[in-house]
Amino acid sequence: MAKVAVVTGASRGIGRAIALELAAQGYKVVVTYRTQEERAREVVGAIAGQGGEAMALRAHVASREEMEALARRVKEEWGTVYALVNNAGIVRDNILVRMKEEEWDQVIETNLRGAFISTKAFLRDMMKAREGRIVNLSSVVGLMGSPGQANYAASKAGLIGFTRSLAREVASRGITVNAVAPGYIETEMTEVLPQDLKDSMLSSIPLGRFGSAQEVAKLVAFLLSPHASYITGQVLVIDGGMTL
Ligand code: NDP
Repeated sequence: MAKVAVVTGASRGIGRAIALELAAQGYKVVVTYRTQEERAREVVGAIAGQGGEAMALRAHVASREEMEALARRVKEEWGTVYALVNNAGIVRDNILVRMKEEEWDQVIETNLRGAFISTKAFLRDMMKAREGRIVNLSSVVGLMGSPGQANYAASKAGLIGFTRSLAREVASRGITVNAVAPGYIETEMTEVLPQDLKDSMLSSIPLGRFGSAQEVAKLVAFLLSPHASYITGQVLVIDGGMTL
């Protein structure tokens, strides 16, 4: 039977690429989104077009009610979830002296609390099944810091502590928990950055180019696969050598 994977924030960008990759590998994929229903439907259509199975469901990752309702729906339709990818994330960049509390709160809520709430929605059933995989989308910014991104860096560093702690908690239940820390990946999140910043970032990447969402998707798919059965609590950096 096909395994079930949930990818949060899969209506576009890296989440979309992960959803397509997992569907191509035979998973039934739940594409979650918050606002962009049309685009989530497009992802489901693209998966159907390549012969896969997917459904799009709306839920704010940090809302317990919405994520629990989503988890119930998935369980009713497809049974226990095998793989959860906590991908949904936002930025609200500002230098700290100008950063508003709401910019801090929104980023921590979506990126960090969102992973906590979403994981709780599926973890009990994974533990009962005594198998499962969780991958959290962190960032090199969570390792290095980045001016103007204290909120985002804190959320992504927090995800690393979350990953390592949970990995220790659930290893005995056959569940692995890992984080992926991408560098600069070409998506809508990064396309809005000023050109001079893009140029300076590019000059700091040994491979001499930005990464693609598909490259991140391949790494996530590997961590969910049987090939990664002895890897847990790790942070896998995928950045073209940027943090070397
Ligand atoms: P995008 O901005 O392109 O897409 C973000 C996705 O998250 C969308 O599908 C969006 O849904 C969803 N989302 C946002 N907030 C919520 C929420 N509260 N509840 C549910 N879904 C939500 O981002 P990327 O694809 O670039 O990034 C994906 C992940 O990878 C993020 O966690 C990001 O921090 C991380 N990352 C990205 C890097 C990059 O260079 N792009 C580098 C390092 C890490 P909707 O369309 O409905 O709004």
